[in-house]
Amino acid sequence: AVKPGCFENMPRLWRELLPAPGADTHKYTRGHVAVFSGDATSTGAARLSALSAARSGAGAVTVLSPDTALSVNAAHLTSIMLSRCDHRQDLISFIERRKPSAFVLGPGFGIGDKTREFSLSLLQDQSVKLVFDADAITSFQDRPDALFNATQRFPEVRLVLTPHEGEFKRLFPDIVATKTPSKLERAREAAARAGAIVIYKGADTVIAAPDGRAAINTNGTPLLATAGSGDVLAGLAAGLMAQGMPPFEAACAAVYIHGAAAHHLGFGLIAEDLPMAATKVIAGLR
Ligand code: AMP
Ligand code: MG
Repeated sequence: AVKPGCFENMPRLWRELLPAPGADTHKYTRGHVAVFSGDATSTGAARLSALSAARSGAGAVTVLSPDTALSVNAAHLTSIMLSRCDHRQDLISFIERRKPSAFVLGPGFGIGDKTREFSLSLLQDQSVKLVFDADAITSFQDRPDALFNATQRFPEVRLVLTPHEGEFKRLFPDIVATKTPSKLERAREAAARAGAIVIYKGADTVIAAPDGRAAINTNGTPLLATAGSGDVLAGLAAGLMAQGMPPFEAACAAVYIHGAAAHHLGFGLIAEDLPMAATKVIAGLR
């Protein structure tokens, strides 16, 4: 049963907004997603996000890699571009030159000052849509207000946060501690505070917007409880936003497509299988 003010995350609510490339598009007008890679020991998560963004239909995807991980990334990427990015200045010049439309920051990136610096820098740029997942969430656990103040400076919602239960607690400890009974209400409160779309993941994923819109996903499956599946979700959400889908609808669609892809694959799926299956799901929805 759906709670008041909330809808079930069904395709009819967002399918009209799924991207459809026009006849005169070229690769950069189909959306350019940039994904930050971690260092040499931690690059797979970014590649899963990057592949998922490409499979969502984005026309161009770049992995932004530290110098130390360039060779490992280069060895594993073909249609996805690669660009060195160690310092904030590298990021700023990449944005100027390549005009990306969306970023994924967090999967495998590492926790700490650099992650916060890059996050806050991206939030100042009003031209890009953002997905902060994993380490980009955890890096703000001792100072969530630094993140929330940065988003609240601008009225337009451009950020999607994708916490699982543990990450949600790090960013919103008091919302969890007050024992707000429903996950739906927790997600709504978190979205309003963060000025961001919140995809509160788990067996029963809830998607909430700062304006109070919320959806409960209808097609979750424990097949998704596998390493790397969250990285795929982050890439799908960024890819759909990069193609012009509004953040709340992109988040709802990404969660649904992720679940449908898993159902399609069945038992034994691994995260690498999900991007291609997601493409087939999108093709069937359009
Ligand atoms: P992460 O924890 O970041 O790897 O993300 C895991 C992904 O799998 C999220 O999209 C979760 O919603 C999904 N997931 C994990 N466990 C389950 C489950 N038992 N039922 C449905 N979805 C799940
Ligand atoms: Mg994760």
